[in-house]
Amino acid sequence: MHIQTLILGAGAAGMMAAAHSGPGVVIIDHAKAAGEKIRISGGGRCNFTNIGTTPAQFISQNRHFAKSALKRYTQWDFINLVSDYKIAWHEKTLGQLFCDDTAKDVVAMLRAEMDKAGAQLMLNTSISDIAHDGTHFIATLTRDGTETAVTATNLIVATGGKSIPKMGATGLAYQIAAQFDVDVITPRPGLVPLTFSDDRFKLLAGVATPSNVTTNDTTFSEALLFTHRGLSGPAILQASSYWTEGDAITVNLIPTADLYDKLRSARTTSPKKALTTIMSQHLPARLIDYIKDEFALHGNIADHSDVRLQAICADLASWDLLPSGSEGYRTAEVTLGGVNTDALSSKTMGVKSVPGLYFIGEAVDVTGWLGGYNFQWAWSSGWAAGQAIKAAHK
Ligand SMILES: Cc1cc2nc3c(=O)[nH]c(=O)nc-3n(C[C@H](O)[C@H](O)[C@H](O)COP(=O)(O)OP(=O)(O)OC[C@H]3O[C@@H](n4cnc5c(N)ncnc54)[C@H](O)[C@@H]3O)c2cc1C
Repeated sequence: MHIQTLILGAGAAGMMAAAHSGPGVVIIDHAKAAGEKIRISGGGRCNFTNIGTTPAQFISQNRHFAKSALKRYTQWDFINLVSDYKIAWHEKTLGQLFCDDTAKDVVAMLRAEMDKAGAQLMLNTSISDIAHDGTHFIATLTRDGTETAVTATNLIVATGGKSIPKMGATGLAYQIAAQFDVDVITPRPGLVPLTFSDDRFKLLAGVATPSNVTTNDTTFSEALLFTHRGLSGPAILQASSYWTEGDAITVNLIPTADLYDKLRSARTTSPKKALTTIMSQHLPARLIDYIKDEFALHGNIADHSDVRLQAICADLASWDLLPSGSEGYRTAEVTLGGVNTDALSSKTMGVKSVPGLYFIGEAVDVTGWLGGYNFQWAWSSGWAAGQAIKAAHK
């Protein structure tokens, strides 16, 4: 079989590319359904983009790389597409857009766009023996034990990162990159809960509180969640993408600055109340009980001078913690690192040294923050590769 474009991976980026690459597209996936991560994303409602998307919310060794694709296929383009398909959506928080009903609507929309473009989807299909003869890519596809030899003018690698191997994630993109001498920035888990070897927060599991979490000079102001194994919640997931093993994190448990004033006024109105009782009116009671010895929250509020109250607030605002690790790819929402953007055209996602070879989506060293940015990168990079191929074959 000879085709114009073979796309590996029918996830968010691959499906988008399939819908925009012009005729002669075959898209394969070893999973039994397309867009599985879309289906389970956002608690089943898919946080499909973020109204506030700019290149600033993406992590990459080249912070300029994502600009071109994000500018040419924007969050508004995707919102228009979703609206054309009459998929109802709402903004949850911080510009994050979710389906009102189900993420399956987004998968169905992309399937419909692929059908419209005439792309052929092959599920339960694996690929082997990938080679390039100077003009074409040659590979063997295997489905239900049947092998098909395929040649393609273009090869788009959209097999994602290593996150959630249980859902079919593999390192195929990195293997293909290595085969074609394309550099890969060492992948590592991102948007992932952090762990502590001593299970120190076990007693607090389930407690959530607003926080500022800082690591490596980057701060996120969102909820923090204590878990059996350590820390999670959006603030920690965000910070984890800037964290590497051995780094400390600083947690500010009182991100709104007025606790000191509240404690002072409580000292006037309720002097005989225990300091922990007053503090439990402003922070989760289980958390106060847990930290009361570490932060010396003893005695009645009247026993504490202004200086002492200020010191307590300062301690609560700069709680230094040293995580021992992360939950790893098992639960990481994304994979940081990936195909080095130096090797790629930021306009087309094409490998500069191998005409016809493209890498898109999470396989590339571009990783978004939590909040719909990663899907936007998948849409934008998939669209960019598709447009380039369509234009080349006009
Ligand atoms: C639980 C969870 C929730 C998430 N929620 C959100 C969210 O709400 N908003 C957001 O923006 N991002 C979210 N993300 C991140 C987002 O899902 C990814 O960034 C995005 O799916 C990346 O798209 P992709 O097409 O590059 O890769 P993927 O969507 O991972 O697609 C890769 C495809 O390639 C296939 N594949 C892999 N290896 C092979 C192989 N060897 N042979 C054949 N096929 C292969 C896989 O089966 C898969 O279908 C979430 C991630 C997870 C894990």
